Amino acid sequence: TAGISAVSEKTLSTILEKNRAFYTQGKVADYIPELGKMDAKAIAFSVVEKNGKVLNVGDVQKKFTMQSISKIIALMIAVNEKGEANVFEKMGYFGTDKPFNHFSNLETTGKPLNPMMNAGAILTTSLISGDGEKPFQKILDMVRYITKNQTIDYSKSVYESEKSTGHRNRGMFYLMKNNGLITGNEDQLDNYFRQCSIEVTAEDLAKIGYFFANECVRFDGDSQYKNTEVAQLIESQMLTAGMYEFSGEYTRTVGLPSKSGVGGGITVSVPGKMGIGVFSPALDQHGNSAAGYHMILDFVKQYHLSLF
Ligand code: GLN
Repeated sequence: TAGISAVSEKTLSTILEKNRAFYTQGKVADYIPELGKMDAKAIAFSVVEKNGKVLNVGDVQKKFTMQSISKIIALMIAVNEKGEANVFEKMGYFGTDKPFNHFSNLETTGKPLNPMMNAGAILTTSLISGDGEKPFQKILDMVRYITKNQTIDYSKSVYESEKSTGHRNRGMFYLMKNNGLITGNEDQLDNYFRQCSIEVTAEDLAKIGYFFANECVRFDGDSQYKNTEVAQLIESQMLTAGMYEFSGEYTRTVGLPSKSGVGGGITVSVPGKMGIGVFSPALDQHGNSAAGYHMILDFVKQYHLSLF
């Protein structure tokens, strides 16, 4: 656009430095004990431009767990296998004013609100076909494909930590089993814990954002999963529920489909254009990266990227 300078690592670096101190306003998640060991000061900011060019600043090598960002990958796979109607027969398209680990509406309508909160995400993963670890393997393979990064794996220590303390998620799992939505055994819940433990960098997240921003076409142009409908579905879920109970205000201030995780990452899709990935592990009261949010906000304002 006329009057707006091109995105460069220099502009990203300026934005990163301006917002670095925001980590002091947040807190590293420790309800999963292993996550509490993260370095609160780590920070990274990546952008994949329309032409697939990657820009990286900050702690670009730093790996962190995807956590809830994995939910968009699981949703893509479940919808590709079962069809959107069959997946959303079991859960809603609702936004929410509740935190990510809330039980609504399992005790009233019996169904999760959406596939972005834990209940709906656990159910979504249970809908992916295959025994044992197979559904998780599909999620991992898809993350490796989208990022073109075969070195990606999951953290066994974060997985074990979450499995041994995730009783609230286990409660949701059994309530959905009671409601007839989940038919398998606890292997399915383990797959959810494993997918949350997949380790990525901010660059990987930017590539995931790019993929959904561009009709499921990879940053290097590979179009084997190209699917406009699926990309629209994922982006609409990210917009309405990707930042949990902060999604409405976030849509007002940032105005882009985004998905956060309690590992401190946020992936952003700028529809038809670019992908953004940020990382800073100190979280605000909604469970979203504090510095990450502010970096996105400044970047989006500077380049007029809001959908609105
Ligand atoms: N693994 C986390 C949990 O289930 C994911 C939550 C999140 O990233 N918001 O609690």
